[in-house]
Amino acid sequence: MDKEPKKVIIAIDGPSGAGKGTVAHYLANKFNLKILDTGLLYRVVAKLALQQKLEPDHHEKLVEITKNVTVDDVTQDGLRSEEVAAMASKIAVIPEIRAILNQIQRDFAVSNPGDHQGVILDGRDIGTVIYPDADCKIYLTADQEIRALRRMKQEDNVCQLEIQRMMAERDKRDSSRPTAPLNAAKDAYIIDTTHLPIDEVCEKAAYYVQNSCLLSTMTA
Ligand code: C5P
Repeated sequence: MDKEPKKVIIAIDGPSGAGKGTVAHYLANKFNLKILDTGLLYRVVAKLALQQKLEPDHHEKLVEITKNVTVDDVTQDGLRSEEVAAMASKIAVIPEIRAILNQIQRDFAVSNPGDHQGVILDGRDIGTVIYPDADCKIYLTADQEIRALRRMKQEDNVCQLEIQRMMAERDKRDSSRPTAPLNAAKDAYIIDTTHLPIDEVCEKAAYYVQNSCLLSTMTA
């Protein structure tokens, strides 16, 4: 019997607004990969916390609601606002919550991807904590001002300075927390997207994936 070809695991990390989502979707389409935006898991908990008027220091209740989260919850509406993002980064410092969401991410990473050639996960700690043995790790970064400008273009009625202020707070919290701070893995390919058009960023990332994993492509 023919041996099943190895299914690959691709990790994309970086701060918000660096282009992770766009690049992850591009790579998922190009290489036929199953995709998980892991930030959405934190946002699901954050949305529930806001609905239930919980504060970030209500650890026990927050852990309880996290226990009921599943990977399918990420498709719901209302996860993309800056309010939800800010709450997500506040609850993401809680180690018990990270442990529960880490398991969901690892289960996804090793789940059978069916007809896909593998999986791609994007987040903050995929290459460092969730799956340090990923076949290809990419770390995207960009100057904060540019990232805030990009975010502003995605949202209605928000001012760039306000977005930049919230982003600075979130960057600081995500990078300085003791558990799984935002960091590039030592063996990650780093792409600074500040001055690169997004299609060039995608092509660069695809080149790194191809170099590491020798996948067949689904699109030209
Ligand atoms: O990627 P996104 O902006 O949706 O993530 C929201 C927040 O969730 C981040 O600011 C971060 O605090 C947290 N997060 C995390 N680890 C991940 C993904 C997201 O701590 N793997």
